[in-house]
Amino acid sequence: MKGFEYLEKEIREWREDGVYRPLTEVESEQGSRVVIHGREVIQLSSNNYLGLTTHPRIKEAANQAVEKYGVGTGSVRTIAGTFSMHEQFEQELAEFKHTEASLVFQSGFTANVGVLATILTEEDVVISDALNHASIIDGIRLTKAGRRIYQHTDMDDLEKALKETQNARTRLIVTDGVFSMDGDVAPLPEIVRLAEQYDALVMVDDAHASGVMGRNGRGTVDHFDLHGRVHIQVGTLSKAVGVLGGYVAGPAVLRDYLIHRARPFLFSTSHPPAVTAACHAAIRVLKDEPELINRLWENTRTFKEGLLKLGFNTGKSETPITPVMVGADSLAMKFSDALLEEGVYAQGIAFPTVPRNQARVRTIITAGHSREDLDQALEAFGRAGEKLGLI
Ligand code: PMP
Repeated sequence: MKGFEYLEKEIREWREDGVYRPLTEVESEQGSRVVIHGREVIQLSSNNYLGLTTHPRIKEAANQAVEKYGVGTGSVRTIAGTFSMHEQFEQELAEFKHTEASLVFQSGFTANVGVLATILTEEDVVISDALNHASIIDGIRLTKAGRRIYQHTDMDDLEKALKETQNARTRLIVTDGVFSMDGDVAPLPEIVRLAEQYDALVMVDDAHASGVMGRNGRGTVDHFDLHGRVHIQVGTLSKAVGVLGGYVAGPAVLRDYLIHRARPFLFSTSHPPAVTAACHAAIRVLKDEPELINRLWENTRTFKEGLLKLGFNTGKSETPITPVMVGADSLAMKFSDALLEEGVYAQGIAFPTVPRNQARVRTIITAGHSREDLDQALEAFGRAGEKLGLI
């Protein structure tokens, strides 16, 4: 189309490089098996860690909320869109996280952007891990604060950054709790120790640790027993919690400030009743059914051991996020296609999501996978890997 030739040119190049990806349509509910292209396959690409997307108690809560309150709130939170259920949920979430307060955003992405872009000014410096999530990077781009990126999980480099920025009003160290593409865990105790030594604040994005790590899925702060020593915890309600949304948990003063100044909070309509009721029910399921988290980790161990036995490289993964490293960008896509032919959906991840030629097929095991699912998936990985000469 006229005017868009430059976009067409780039898309043509992606096709030539074998990295152009049409969206994959899921034709069923999101479960351990899904229907794709009319065929049932094993799902290894969702963030539905605990299978809560289809949990009966959570579905029931959503249905009841629709019946009682309708499908939308009709306003942003600060005008007419705060329902009692929003406030009640935030109070229970704060108690769950052992923080004074919490505030829900429309997504984890907007929670990160909302906090970072709002609380930092040109007097401050943000110190960020090199592999932090895109929403942290975008949040940082929106601040006028100074920025310093430290090498991934490199505590010497973090200390150097803290020494170099002593003149700032506030230094905020920000890190993913679990890194989304590699599945490794931030060295949070060491980060907190350095922050205390150099008088900096710490913010952790627990998108992939919420519902996965810590007691009842309270996240990395709970896992490392650092309650009260991490100033800001961001989490998502879109992954293990199974619904949609993000939140900031921390001191009441932070909540108050964000309500008045965070642009994604101020200028975007609040969550529909069904979403809030479902999230609230999901937090209660985390409290009542910790066995789901045990199953998630057992399944993860079984699958990871199987992949290693087959000869695959799973990188630095320490969590259910298990990348199968392949290298070349187009090879990851071919591997993903071969797996789909073998009955497994595992998406290839390439540049710009990860650095060039560090492409991988990223798998996420869930509590919902049966032993049969795992065995079949491993057999498929073996056949597809041999076909492409990866093992
Ligand atoms: N942070 C991290 C580390 C993530 O992986 C994601 C999801 N890709 C997000 C934030 C954003 O969460 P949401 O999907 O709720 O917007």
